[in-house]
Amino acid sequence: MFIRQTVKILLLIFLLALLTAVTQTGGIVLLCTIGIIFFFRKRLSSSWKIYLSGTVVFILLYTISNFTIVPLAAKHFGRVPLPLRGRVKPLNIGTCLLNRHYVRPALRDVVMKSYQVLDSKYSGCTVNYLDAGFPFYNGFPLLPHLSHNDGRKLDLAFFYKDKNGKPLNDAPSAIGYGVYESPRGSEVNYAERCTSKGYWQYGVMEQIVPQRNKPDYIFDAARTAALVNILSANKSVEKIFIEPHLKRRLGLPSPKIRFHGCQAVRHDDHVHVQVY
Ligand SMILES: [Zn+2]
Repeated sequence: MFIRQTVKILLLIFLLALLTAVTQTGGIVLLCTIGIIFFFRKRLSSSWKIYLSGTVVFILLYTISNFTIVPLAAKHFGRVPLPLRGRVKPLNIGTCLLNRHYVRPALRDVVMKSYQVLDSKYSGCTVNYLDAGFPFYNGFPLLPHLSHNDGRKLDLAFFYKDKNGKPLNDAPSAIGYGVYESPRGSEVNYAERCTSKGYWQYGVMEQIVPQRNKPDYIFDAARTAALVNILSANKSVEKIFIEPHLKRRLGLPSPKIRFHGCQAVRHDDHVHVQVY
């Protein structure tokens, strides 16, 4: 009995930590769920009814709070959610379900204005964003990112086209990371350099993310370069990270575009932009 209770408590602590690390609000929602289920425990006659009801209550509470309470509360922390739909949208809706789409208002303005400028040149394009930040507290890490902890940073997906040159509005990786536009021939190869220095994590996403879509998605250098140039021309933008071989290949002149360091991960699958 004692061992069973201890295992249950440890499992609960693990679940709370996991939900908090992945979504920031999930742990609190779980505690609320436990409180509700405890209140109604006498009406739930068996343990499977308790777990089933708990799961349903958690999903309902989490989903409803994500779209109502969380965006309102985030305002007090100087964060706003990026759009869920439209021409600036998450590549994967999971980004929003996990609360990873919150930024400072200045960064949202940068993205929305950049999209408008880009659209005037490439009508009908869609800017797909990846991980941004959590809604609350500076310094709360958005794992596995090193720096996405203050609403000032956002990752954007590259643009792609199909084999016939038709622009596509999604990406070969379902999560936007891990399908690389690798260095060619004599191009500078930081993936090799960093890996040879022992930074095993630098290109690890390629081992995790399925590569089956890669042949059907051709890197759209023109639209990606246009987006990076528009972003770098914005006075609010402090830094942009993209892999050095792509900075050269695309002829990106801005000194704001820098190498992120071997302690990070490859940036030839996405653009990282951050504001002051
Ligand atoms: Zn980033």
